[in-house]
Amino acid sequence: MPVERGELSVLFEACLGFSLGGIEIPDSRKLISIMAGSQKNPQPKVPIVEEAMARAVESAPSPVLHAWFWPDAKPFAVALSHDVDEVRWSWRRRLLMAAKHPHTVLQENERYWNFDRVLALERRSGVRSSWYFVADGRHPRDPPYRLTDVASVMGELEKQGQEIGLHASYLSYADAAMLKREREAIGKALGRPVLGVRQHFLNFDSSVTWRIQREAGFEYDSTLAYNEVSGFRAGICHPYRPPGHNIMEIPLILMDGQLFLYERFSVPQAVANCERLSEAVAARGGLLTMNWHQHTYDSYSFPGFWDVYEHMLGWLMARDPAFLTGEEVWQWWNLRSSVHIVEQERKRGSATWTVSAPDRVPGLALRFLGPKEAGLHADAETRVTTRGDDHFIVFRELPADEPVTVASEW
Ligand SMILES: [Zn+2]
Repeated sequence: MPVERGELSVLFEACLGFSLGGIEIPDSRKLISIMAGSQKNPQPKVPIVEEAMARAVESAPSPVLHAWFWPDAKPFAVALSHDVDEVRWSWRRRLLMAAKHPHTVLQENERYWNFDRVLALERRSGVRSSWYFVADGRHPRDPPYRLTDVASVMGELEKQGQEIGLHASYLSYADAAMLKREREAIGKALGRPVLGVRQHFLNFDSSVTWRIQREAGFEYDSTLAYNEVSGFRAGICHPYRPPGHNIMEIPLILMDGQLFLYERFSVPQAVANCERLSEAVAARGGLLTMNWHQHTYDSYSFPGFWDVYEHMLGWLMARDPAFLTGEEVWQWWNLRSSVHIVEQERKRGSATWTVSAPDRVPGLALRFLGPKEAGLHADAETRVTTRGDDHFIVFRELPADEPVTVASEW
């Protein structure tokens, strides 16, 4: 796709929620191709697109009022997810494990069937997650279970407020008919269409996958990540619409397999790495998308994997982010994108804006970037709050189709 000048500004403005005016953004071709999925961020641990975006914000003429990324001015967001690759030990594994854990020979084959265990763990923290199930697939690398094996557990998870999405089969990333069939099959089993997809093995071709996912009816994808290393493949830790596509990408940052099977971390090293990446996301007000497979909860087969997850849940809870399922991220991000902020007046010592949206936006938070001592108020029910250098005005609810004036003085 030819890169047009200004494309990166459009992407940044969509993410930030305000107009950058005439600011120059260097290195745009590289950053666009990373966001477009055609090139991987060469620095996995650094969100290089976010860094360029932060520099653009710093150079924007003050004061700026922009729609904060998350409801109720939450500092950042977390999307927990589980790809369901395997649900039972294979015979090979049973034999393999018999030597180490002889009692498993006599036990029921349920050490991968960890749906209740994961639910209980997350319920203790009061959080919910997205579960991506496989609907089909005949490739040797495709999961061995069938939809009929998991239909009842999918229904149960959904009843518990979890989101169900498609874990699309190994070859479907480049096969429109296959992807469509799989979305229809899982929708039929669940009794309603699913909105989100993650491709098995993170197989992805930027020239095809997003387009055929959208054609199949998906609203968001959460595949963009590296298999071999945890971090920021898309260079960004916010949801975004990839250039030229009408689907939302929710980039994946952290996955159990990356840490233990490829990066070969010990538990303390994995924890340190997860905390470092999470801090980078939190510092940007971003979205930390995590994927822990429910079968790796089996500590005989995958020692340490879920110790790291449990540790991170506690670590994240202490920082009070918004915990959202993929579907909730998609809903919120669309709602937030519909908020329109127009500067009305800018004088020495004061500025006013009108803020409006076609639908009501509960918990909308606006961040004010300007003089620290500025006062903020609006002709609607709001509260003002600060966190570090960040200054917010938070609406109980922005009314539908009814412009509200926000004013600041300093
Ligand atoms: Zn998978």
